[in-house]
Amino acid sequence: MNDTLMPTYMRQPVAFLRGSGVWLYDENGRAYLDALAGIAVCGLGHAHPGVAAALADQAATLIHTSNLYRNPLQEALAALLTEVSGMNNCFFANSGAEANEGALKLARLHGHSRGIANPAVIVMDNSFHGRTLATLSATGNVKVQKGFEPLVEGFIRVPFGDIDAIRAAAHNHPNIAALLVEPIQGESGVRLPPQGLESYLEQLRTLCDQHDWLMMLDEIQTGNARTGKYFAFQHSKILPDVVTTAKGLGNGFPIAAVLAAGKATHLFQPGMHGTTYGGTPLACRVALTTVQALLQGPMENARLQGIALQQAFQKRLGHLGVEVTGLGLMLALVLPVSALPLVERGREAGVLFAVSSENRIRLLPPLIISTEECALLVDRLSSVVESYLREVAGA
Ligand SMILES: *Cc1c(COP(=O)(O)O)cnc(C)c1O
Repeated sequence: MNDTLMPTYMRQPVAFLRGSGVWLYDENGRAYLDALAGIAVCGLGHAHPGVAAALADQAATLIHTSNLYRNPLQEALAALLTEVSGMNNCFFANSGAEANEGALKLARLHGHSRGIANPAVIVMDNSFHGRTLATLSATGNVKVQKGFEPLVEGFIRVPFGDIDAIRAAAHNHPNIAALLVEPIQGESGVRLPPQGLESYLEQLRTLCDQHDWLMMLDEIQTGNARTGKYFAFQHSKILPDVVTTAKGLGNGFPIAAVLAAGKATHLFQPGMHGTTYGGTPLACRVALTTVQALLQGPMENARLQGIALQQAFQKRLGHLGVEVTGLGLMLALVLPVSALPLVERGREAGVLFAVSSENRIRLLPPLIISTEECALLVDRLSSVVESYLREVAGA
């Protein structure tokens, strides 16, 4: 298509020129219902007027000064995020992977403060934490790691949801300093802990307290109101030590955050971590606008539409062996067969989504999706799934 771009992505043969709310428009002006939202990024939908106005106004006022000076917008965003989450303080970065790098550095500092020379972090099968060397090493997917060996050391992998495996790891590895986990696994196709989110998080909190590990949650995808609470951990009563977030934080403008509480709060001292761009006045102004707008109604909408969508898909597709799962507007339809051909068929039917782990249709629509748009999504996608499953059964 364009050999001046590195072929890191198998791109679909469509280009979108503008968007509005849950809708994207291609070069021919055709409208698509966007149930992916830039991979869980545009929670407020496309071309949100408040975000656009904040971005334009701040761009005409002050974009960047560096982290060598005080930054009132960064302080305001940190105050808002800590208030919303119950965490103590924040470090701002530019992408999810970078936020996780910050978290992994905190884990190592915590380990060293306990006198551990080679601290290790427990990570999960089927996890995704990013594409930098440390975060791809933490990721539980060999496809992400292949070709980039030697991997960064210091990760111990266990099955997601398996508390006994963590107990065994604790027994075998005295050098563990932290645990890094997605409350709901996103890239591997919206996987909830088998024992339930609340119970899993409570079990992890207890183990981290017993062993003096940092409990680190990767909420890059589950955060920013996606699951119907601001952070997914808020479906439970626990407070983690570290939370990373990114995707939905700037509604498409790049910004990420590492939030710390408890014993993680004071690990970073001056000079230990940094970034040129992280938390610019522009990024923080956009994120402030985004977070405030998400709390105004989209978060509750995500909770309610999520329940309604699960029921509607269950009713339309449940009898065909399709399993409906997820929380808020982080949903998956798990097919009894490969769902890979459906991305193209869906697009042709005017609905955009992703497929993960071969048979899991991932739905991550904007959190502002209306009841009518949800009905349209159910109708268009169910029709595509029904005719595909009929075809597969007939073949
Ligand atoms: C997307 C994602 C990342 C990586 O974020 P980037 O901004 O692409 O670096 C890390 N962890 C999770 C859970 C994600 O969904």
